[in-house]
Amino acid sequence: MTPNAALANGDKAPVLSVNGLNVDARLATGDVSVLCDISIDVAKGEILGVIGESGSGLTVLSRAIMNWLPSPLQATKGEVNFRGSNLLKVSAAEMRRLRGKEIAYIGSDSSTALNPTVPIGKHLVSKLRSVLPQYSEQQARQRIMELFDAVRIPSPRARFNEFPFQFSGGMMQRVMIVDALCTDPALLVADNITQPLDVTVAEQIVRLLRDLRDDFGTSVVFSSASLPVAAEISERLLVLQNGRVLEETTPQDIVSSPKTDYTKTLTARVPRIWSVDHTPPRSVVMKPILSVRNATKAYFTKDPKTYFGKQTVEAVRGVSFDVLEGENLGIVGESGCGKSTLSRLLSWVEQPDTGDIFFDGKSISKMSNRELKALRSQFQLILQDPYTCLPGHKTVGEIISEPLRIHRIGSVSKQRDRVREVMQEVGLPAGSDLNLPYQLSASQRQRVNIARAMVLNPRLLILDETLSSLDQVEQARLLDLFEDLQKRHKYTYIFISHDLALVRRACSRVLVMYLGRVVEMAENEKLFFDPQHPYSRALLSAMPTLEKNRFDAEECLLEGEPPSPVNIQPGCSFRTRCPHAMEICGKIDPTPETHGLSHVECHLVHEREMVQELDRQSMRRHDP
Ligand code: SF4
Repeated sequence: MTPNAALANGDKAPVLSVNGLNVDARLATGDVSVLCDISIDVAKGEILGVIGESGSGLTVLSRAIMNWLPSPLQATKGEVNFRGSNLLKVSAAEMRRLRGKEIAYIGSDSSTALNPTVPIGKHLVSKLRSVLPQYSEQQARQRIMELFDAVRIPSPRARFNEFPFQFSGGMMQRVMIVDALCTDPALLVADNITQPLDVTVAEQIVRLLRDLRDDFGTSVVFSSASLPVAAEISERLLVLQNGRVLEETTPQDIVSSPKTDYTKTLTARVPRIWSVDHTPPRSVVMKPILSVRNATKAYFTKDPKTYFGKQTVEAVRGVSFDVLEGENLGIVGESGCGKSTLSRLLSWVEQPDTGDIFFDGKSISKMSNRELKALRSQFQLILQDPYTCLPGHKTVGEIISEPLRIHRIGSVSKQRDRVREVMQEVGLPAGSDLNLPYQLSASQRQRVNIARAMVLNPRLLILDETLSSLDQVEQARLLDLFEDLQKRHKYTYIFISHDLALVRRACSRVLVMYLGRVVEMAENEKLFFDPQHPYSRALLSAMPTLEKNRFDAEECLLEGEPPSPVNIQPGCSFRTRCPHAMEICGKIDPTPETHGLSHVECHLVHEREMVQELDRQSMRRHDP
């Protein structure tokens, strides 16, 4: 039921009404304000979007609505009224009854939300029966199965008995939605739930929440650091900055008439795909710095069906491409498509099973250890997670200078000078070389990673989802930094990312991966305006954007997730999700069509090319 329908039914009282809420952090040094004077109403069946940068108070607001603030945070003023009762004043026993039954919460990290030793179905049945004891085991099981169907978890009977580690990120987020909705709550608090997901899965979750709202009349508070996602799902938007509500608006007005300078900056920083003229740097040299030839990589895992058996996970399957000196090459695809395995092969952290990789025309596999050590200073890998990839016990200065010590470059004082020089270049505050990583923000930690990679003056930087844990404002700042560093040092970049907007802005050429294969490679403009492969079109159609999407999501919506990379069958791997799949697609691998630096693998494109060639030949025959 939509809010209007709710009001038409006479259901006028808001389900949630927050009035003048203040939350403070009670520290030994004094109180620090985290949320100040927040007031919001959410009607029955309404989806309210709350947006802001990291640190603006999104998660604190979500937790405050649940009356679930961790110490030292405390609600010091105001009310959180749910169906007329102030949640900040109800007893602990009453709050326990309401949580899970009438108000449900879903967080962004679904991977650690459930006990890993208990099957998913058993966990959900026991949660449902503890909240609603009138349900028998059989009825609870039936209800969970219905919800598995509603959230489109494939093969619900089989998956009911699987463990959390057997579910992907997108499927676990669906399980969390089942967990939240199994008791028919009146209010769902969704805290940044699409942040860790691929665009295709995030699009499916957004549709799902809207359908569930329509079917069950649930009210939703949807907080998100992504403005396009929040604008797509919500009827109203609230903009938070530094714990205060700056403005309340609609998704249409936030783009056409933002009321505050902050909102203007926030909307201006959302990357545009089609309405801007991007000219990311192109290579003028046309000389490959790195060449990959027919690289494959497979892993062996235990076969769950047999006691001693093994199964083959084919992560990268016969991949070939060149990276030109001075260019920015983007590698995109959903989780599990082989991007990260490929990044480990490119940086020679792992070796391919077959095929080879060449740096400056020399085969890396044929290099001696001494040559390989010298080569390692020329290319560097920067990883995704700024929290786990820095050793917590070392100072920033020690971390950045480590490559200089390993390669025995310069005296201690020269190393110190070089560290300060790169710290200044990447925008780290002077004096922070003495800090430990935990004393820095996520963005500053990522700058430490960049400084550590730059300190040896490399020629090639491989950025594996380096910006994906940051909000859009920080991403834009770091992209400016990468551009600036490239102008000064002539770096070549490989951006590995699931974020197409970032790749559109930063990369001159883009390579699309699906299930370990490169299915399309094209120049930036060609890929974003005229993609040839159905999978590239589907990825673009799922892009959350503030513009009108060039590709209709209804025509190319991807349902489900990529098939398993275990024992892949012959034929096109995309056929199970492709709206254009033909009989031949299930039998024969598509022939790669390569023209210069562009490449596509699809029977449709092959057929189209053959028809065009026949037309050309027939025109030549009829030409006098
Ligand atoms: Fe679709 Fe067939 Fe092309 Fe694969 S080869 S993308 S199934 S049309």
